[in-house]
Amino acid sequence: MSDWLIKGETDYRISNGVIAEVGTGLSGGTVIDADGLVVLPGLVDLHTHLREPGREDAETVATGTAAAALGGFTAVHAMANTDPVADVAGVVEQVWRLGRDAGHCAVHPVGAVTLGLDGKELAELGAMADSAARVRVFSDDGRCVSDAGLMRRALEYVKAFDGVIAQHAQEPSLTAGAQMHEGIVSARLGLSGWPAAAEESVIARDCLLAAHTGSRLHVCHVSTAGSVELIRWAKSKGWHVTAEVTPHHLLLTDKLATTYDPLFKVNPPLRTAADVQALREGLADGTIDAVATDHAPHALEDKETEWGCAAFGMLGLETALSIVIETMVEPGLLDWNGVADRMSYRPAQIGRLRDQGVALEPGAPANLTLVDPAARWVVDPHALASKSANTPYAGRELRGRGVATFLHGRPTVLDGKLG
Ligand SMILES: [Zn+2]
Repeated sequence: MSDWLIKGETDYRISNGVIAEVGTGLSGGTVIDADGLVVLPGLVDLHTHLREPGREDAETVATGTAAAALGGFTAVHAMANTDPVADVAGVVEQVWRLGRDAGHCAVHPVGAVTLGLDGKELAELGAMADSAARVRVFSDDGRCVSDAGLMRRALEYVKAFDGVIAQHAQEPSLTAGAQMHEGIVSARLGLSGWPAAAEESVIARDCLLAAHTGSRLHVCHVSTAGSVELIRWAKSKGWHVTAEVTPHHLLLTDKLATTYDPLFKVNPPLRTAADVQALREGLADGTIDAVATDHAPHALEDKETEWGCAAFGMLGLETALSIVIETMVEPGLLDWNGVADRMSYRPAQIGRLRDQGVALEPGAPANLTLVDPAARWVVDPHALASKSANTPYAGRELRGRGVATFLHGRPTVLDGKLG
């Protein structure tokens, strides 16, 4: 494996997959000019839909992880709502192997909480934890574990191996047929709405269950101001509750539904400007631990249809860092250390990853990404590495772009292209 020398304000020499030296005036190895670039620990996504097995027409492990590497990620957690569902050791091991073989970034499969995501019977959580994929994050994402007794048992079960239940908080009896956020805009459009309380009531319940069991709860894609308040409350009690927010919930609002463009149809839905502001503040003060993409590729026929029939979800891996720069860094809500914390250190900690989210010091695994914060680029959906094109940012000029990504000392991206 060749040696690399990243020369910038601080130099990093990479050798044998680890950071060999950090300092100034270093020499040795192939030089990468990092003048003006920001060096971050490799980004870690807690929430990625790679669609394989089952919907390889929308994304594969190879195409999704290529998108991840271009976005600066060195690890992603692949959600369990595949076909077949990742509810047994065999499927999580298959996804883990596909990730290893593709080589763009580490793939950590998420195991389903319940068999078939049916919300009735616990899946083989222990077998998935003990498998080669070493699953630590479990989620029925796409669906909510709405049965309180089952949620309690899942929380108790994963304690044995320090796992975490990642909940898609959505009380189903409050969201049947919902198409968008319930509020002034939904009333005007006559679309059936999704009340904030559907998310918040489940979060409140689950925080209490996490306290009762002493287990780890992670709240997926928090989208309302009230949710931020609830998580702040749970953390103030010292309960083991963490949370994530998506880039799109930091930027976009429910007003976009007035376009009837299904690219803006997502679960949980885009909320109000006041919610966006509360999410930014919650991420800034650490109430929300992590940015997670909820990268959700969809084939053309599932998205290019009328609003009511279109699938929920949007791409996120290749644009996440740019949106965080626009919504958090440029307004002064997060500095680069804050970005490293919310997009690498804390998500790796939540996923209990041992060799990701590690500070860039001598001896650390060389998982890192180089970002040009001054770059400007216009999103062309068909130029993205993802197999799908359902980005909500088509034609939008974004700030900041990944220049290079290293995975265990090997460049997965160089000069902004796949290595
Ligand atoms: Zn979800």
